[in-house]
Amino acid sequence: MKRVLVTGGAGFIGTHLCRRLLNEGCHVICLDNLFTGSEQNIALFRSNPDFEFVLHDIVNPYETTDIDEIYNLACPASPVHYQYDAIKTIKTAVMGVINMLDLAVKNRAKILQASTSEVYGDPVVHPQNESYWGNVNPIGPRSCYDEGKRCGETLCMDYHRQNGVCIKIIRIFNTYGPYMLPNDGRVVSNFIVQALQGEPITIYGTGEQTRSFQYVDDLIEGMIRMMNTENDFTGPINLGNPEEFTILDLARKVIEMTGSKSEVIFKPLPHDDPRQRKPDISLARKMLNWEPQISLDDGLGHVINYFKERC
Ligand code: NAD
Ligand code: UDP
Repeated sequence: MKRVLVTGGAGFIGTHLCRRLLNEGCHVICLDNLFTGSEQNIALFRSNPDFEFVLHDIVNPYETTDIDEIYNLACPASPVHYQYDAIKTIKTAVMGVINMLDLAVKNRAKILQASTSEVYGDPVVHPQNESYWGNVNPIGPRSCYDEGKRCGETLCMDYHRQNGVCIKIIRIFNTYGPYMLPNDGRVVSNFIVQALQGEPITIYGTGEQTRSFQYVDDLIEGMIRMMNTENDFTGPINLGNPEEFTILDLARKVIEMTGSKSEVIFKPLPHDDPRQRKPDISLARKMLNWEPQISLDDGLGHVINYFKERC
């Protein structure tokens, strides 16, 4: 039986990944410090004998044996949470990755690193393909995350070149779905929770900035396919939905789909908020035979139903 370590496994994406790996017959070790992860999420798997939970912080070394694959997801992903303790975030993104790469060396395990479209910063190339080096402010409030994730990619490539580690780098674009926390702070969960509770919908800036929203099931499929590529294929590879929307479009959709009476209010745009973001997924189409299957309307429908039961 394949033994798979999922760091950040109690978080939003991690929960979906643990479920998928368990369904595929893997033994899953979910490691998390529960900073933004939820015990309720992992409670779903507690009775499964092939699921283990380890309360651990990846900033500290972790020793275990007989691991075949590591999915390194541990890192807060919402701007609110990664800026809460910026020094801790960059330690997670750098020291945490070093610890997981060392673990991969000792176990001769493959490791998939959850990188991000944030490595492109406020992009001047649109859509973004993997050969674009990005436009990141190295000293701004987002840089603990952006630069941390960029360094994470550097470390993966260095361990690959120097120690022969089999690495897989994915650049995840804005992903949403069930198991996001209602207070996660990211735009999709914020708008849906606000709409369902009749609270004002908070648009930061003018709302003309764009994002491309990927439903989590599409991402998980891409992650599994990436892990299963030939050993010499490292990526980085973009995983995202190329359909691009303004934040105003998203607010209108959520209001319409929830039938909410919420008003829209405008708040200051956060510092260094990227103006546009859309993945070029040609590489994923070619190498993984993958493209997103779930439209924003369908995906939002699932998440609205999910939050209706919880708000
Ligand atoms: P999340 O915040 O829901 O999950 C992150 C998980 O990591 C949480 O369970 C948290 O408790 C855990 N964690 C944080 N720091 C840790 C540490 N030092 N040690 C151990 N565990 C720690 O976020 P998510 O959306 O599920 O994101 C998962 C990964 O995907 C992150 O690495 C993130 O950077 C990346 N990513 C996500 C998106 C997205 O849109 N969701 C986009 C780009 C990249
Ligand atoms: N945003 C917004 N209202 C919110 C939360 C976010 O208008 O309540 C905006 C945010 O400024 C950004 C976009 O929505 O332009 C996506 O934000 P999110 O935090 O989800 O992800 P990001 O792509 O910025 O990491």
